[in-house]
Amino acid sequence: MQDKLIKVAVVGNPNCGKTTLFNVLTGSNLKVANWPGVTVEKIEGFASYEDFRIDLIDTPGIYSLASYTIEEKVTRNCIMDQDIDVILNVVDASSLERNLYLTMQLIELKKPMVIALNMMDIIKERGLEIDLHRLPEMLGNIPIVPVSAAKKKGINILLHAIVHHYEEGPVTEVFHYSEEIEEKIEKLEVMMGARYPKHEFKRWHAVKLLEGDEAVLKDHPIEVETIADKSYEKQMIQEKYGYIENIVEEVLFYKEKKAHITEKIDQYLTHPVFGLFFFFLIMMSVFFLTFSIGDFLKGILENILISVSNTISALFNTIGVAGWLHSMLIDGALAGVGGILTFIPNIAILFLALALLEDSGYMSRVAYVMDGVMGKVGLSGKAFLPMILGFGCTVPAIMATRALESEEDRKKTMIITPFMSCSARLPIYVLFSGMFFEKNAYLVSFSLYLLGLFIAILTASILTKIKKEARKEVLLIELPEYKRPNLRTIRIYVVTKLKDYLSKAGTVIFIASLIIWVLLNFGPAGMTSQPDESFGALIGKLMVPLTRPAGLDSWQFVVALISGISAKEVVVSSLNVLFQTTASGSNQSLLQSILTVSPEFGALQAYAFMTFCLLYTPCVATIATIRKESNSWKFTSKVILFQLLTAWLVATLIFQIGSRIAGL
Ligand code: GDP
Repeated sequence: MQDKLIKVAVVGNPNCGKTTLFNVLTGSNLKVANWPGVTVEKIEGFASYEDFRIDLIDTPGIYSLASYTIEEKVTRNCIMDQDIDVILNVVDASSLERNLYLTMQLIELKKPMVIALNMMDIIKERGLEIDLHRLPEMLGNIPIVPVSAAKKKGINILLHAIVHHYEEGPVTEVFHYSEEIEEKIEKLEVMMGARYPKHEFKRWHAVKLLEGDEAVLKDHPIEVETIADKSYEKQMIQEKYGYIENIVEEVLFYKEKKAHITEKIDQYLTHPVFGLFFFFLIMMSVFFLTFSIGDFLKGILENILISVSNTISALFNTIGVAGWLHSMLIDGALAGVGGILTFIPNIAILFLALALLEDSGYMSRVAYVMDGVMGKVGLSGKAFLPMILGFGCTVPAIMATRALESEEDRKKTMIITPFMSCSARLPIYVLFSGMFFEKNAYLVSFSLYLLGLFIAILTASILTKIKKEARKEVLLIELPEYKRPNLRTIRIYVVTKLKDYLSKAGTVIFIASLIIWVLLNFGPAGMTSQPDESFGALIGKLMVPLTRPAGLDSWQFVVALISGISAKEVVVSSLNVLFQTTASGSNQSLLQSILTVSPEFGALQAYAFMTFCLLYTPCVATIATIRKESNSWKFTSKVILFQLLTAWLVATLIFQIGSRIAGL
């Protein structure tokens, strides 16, 4: 009969193999729900061993027991509030140092604990060994069981350890902070004891108070100011890491030295100088592919679209469709939407490249390498991850700023992320650099990506200077092993993105093209065949004086820019409608129309225009996301205005300086 129940919380870093171990332990005895109040998945299950029933609760993967992220809060509440008997700490033996940081914090809770030292197969494969006598000694004699969740090794011994140690906390205390801090902890513990006699985690609590953890202070308010006169967080993190370094030095050694492939590659890819160089080289190759292969396929699509447009046009003529309807459908809808559809190959290649870089494990290296640069401008390397996502689409990138711990850093990252050139801007570059820079098209586009990155970093740096902030966050980023990208993951990613793109073409772009057509074909005097007398021209002409310093002296560009706020691809579809090109938006016919309207328009103007498109007010979807994530219209309006001004300023500088140089 199973009569004794043990409740176990499974805790560990992301990717330490928690889920794999959990599944091995519980078999199919799973129950999936959400943690109360948040949309973080909660998985429960049970295992049986001897005459025990072991109830297991999986907690979200975390790097530390701070309370910055939702995951940290959920895990913290779970192990402290529920009647958990044992913490099962899953440690990835192949990155011992990072994993032990969480372990050290769990030890401070002084709860019964068992460590599953996972990924032992990798340790063996790398020719490493871990001293399994010394390691528990240095962690206060907590039982440590070497396992390999993926290979189902060591599972029974782990269950055995749980049922035989579930009543024991760490047996000895092994780690002490420096004297200054220990004294303060002791005082705080005494104060906690006086105020909350029944409190279970006094030392841990005192530690968190000294680290300046606000959630802890809110839960159990006491007067801490005299003792916790500043945040000791950084110093305490350093001291903990100092101890962990000692541990790793003592327990981890090579049985036979085999240089591991990931380490070999990382010597170069995460090198502070070469790493950056490689990053730029890789991005440049991505653009080269996007342009060379992409343009070849784009040409084929263009031809197909021209014949489709001609066929429909001929059909309309035969059945005698009214002139205005004919024009609206062919010159409006088809020119706009069709023009966008021809960019599918370019977009697909860009997303394919981004997916490959992400899934192979390379993108985390980029954040790691950028940590140095980001640190100089007052942000952590972590902020670079949302920024990279911004190469795809700004909306998820803005959402990803949630991973940043401080509110200040989040806002700063939200301000600069829209400067990262998203995929919707690619059609604009493909079109204009194709028309005006021919062979160097991909280099020109690449330069715009770099320009966006540069402006983003410059902005962060200026904001930091203004606010005189010191950098706070410590980068705990994970460098996963390189692996062969999973074709399924890649396919799903690329297909989803293309579907998004197509559905945009069918909705926003379709409607925007029709609106532009209406603006062009109606004026104060009613329907007109003279675009110059249309409402569109009226609005555009009103604003041309503002854009003239940036080299944009015809109203068509202004209207295209305004329409681009609905979605950046709309700039391209609008230009096709505005300049009344054929449905394909083929480069030659558009170029001719542009030159007819604006004979001066050349490479310099094109570059200024692309720069403006890169930097100006993001699309409505992004605006809505910024508003939602910042919860403030004031902040959002400031961001919009700031970006508009930046775009104008940079485009104007480029045009003015460029034309001076050209005039020399
Ligand atoms: P979680 O994020 O902690 O839940 O980690 P997962 O259980 O998803 O594991 C992350 C990755 O590590 C997966 O690809 C697993 O297949 C792999 N993994 C888990 N345990 C082991 C192990 O013992 N050995 C090896 N080689 N890989 C493992």
